[in-house]
Amino acid sequence: MKNAKIEWTDHTFNPWIDCQHVSPGCDHCYAEAQNAFRKWNGGTWGPHAPRKQTSEENWKNPIKWNAGARAFKREHGRRPRVFCASLAGVFDKQAESTWRHDLFPLIRECRRLDWLLLTKRPQDIARMLPADWGGGYRNVWLGVTAENQTYFDQRWKHLQNIPAIIKFISYEPALGPLRLPKDGPVPDWLISGGESGGGARPLNPQWVRDIIKDCQNRGVALLRHYTNSGEPTTVIRSSCSRAWPSKRRSARTHLGREEAWLTGSWSASSRCVYVEGKAS
Ligand code: SF4
Repeated sequence: MKNAKIEWTDHTFNPWIDCQHVSPGCDHCYAEAQNAFRKWNGGTWGPHAPRKQTSEENWKNPIKWNAGARAFKREHGRRPRVFCASLAGVFDKQAESTWRHDLFPLIRECRRLDWLLLTKRPQDIARMLPADWGGGYRNVWLGVTAENQTYFDQRWKHLQNIPAIIKFISYEPALGPLRLPKDGPVPDWLISGGESGGGARPLNPQWVRDIIKDCQNRGVALLRHYTNSGEPTTVIRSSCSRAWPSKRRSARTHLGREEAWLTGSWSASSRCVYVEGKAS
């Protein structure tokens, strides 16, 4: 059973709550607004607000999802995904390091779940990973938010050097153009979307056309889940059973015109399958 409304995950798990603004992508932070309303952390937010660890009961949820993961896979054809810390920062310096020491064993234990760790603080990832991280846990995808080219350039340079089974970019909210490098390492997966909600900053459709083209050219799987530009909304889902194939060369991808589509047969073992559908 999914507990997340976010298009690209099935569950959200918050080991703690509270965070602080890092860059312009945070200006309309959903978590901050929700915290002000629901008072999860007394309504406080930001650099001077103490982070609050969530309840023991909440920490048991991933164990339950992990127990149901086989059934989920039978139903959905892929492993369940958990976006960790939608209301906080996994690599936030102000979160107690002992909480992270508890979090990573839980992640490792719940090995039938794919954990998505998305951050705007990639410069802190390496020193906060557990000692047994090695080449990356098989069930953890590491991602950075890049709302425009400046933040892509700043953050990807850190992430590209950290071992992880899948690396991804969240180009959301897209606040400016972003082009992938023509050569050198690129992420495995990219999520793109415009800002939503009141006062949403506009998205230029040309940014979307450009990033679709770059993903096509560099063999990057794309999930484009909505825009706020009045364009047709196309959803492209990628589904990986376990590890992303390392030989991107063998990918057959095609993205066509404005109505993007992508089909993949990534490797001899065909571990990755793509399906597409229209967002409602
Ligand atoms: S990093 Fe995320 S959770 Fe933290 S303030 Fe920015 S948008 Fe909000």
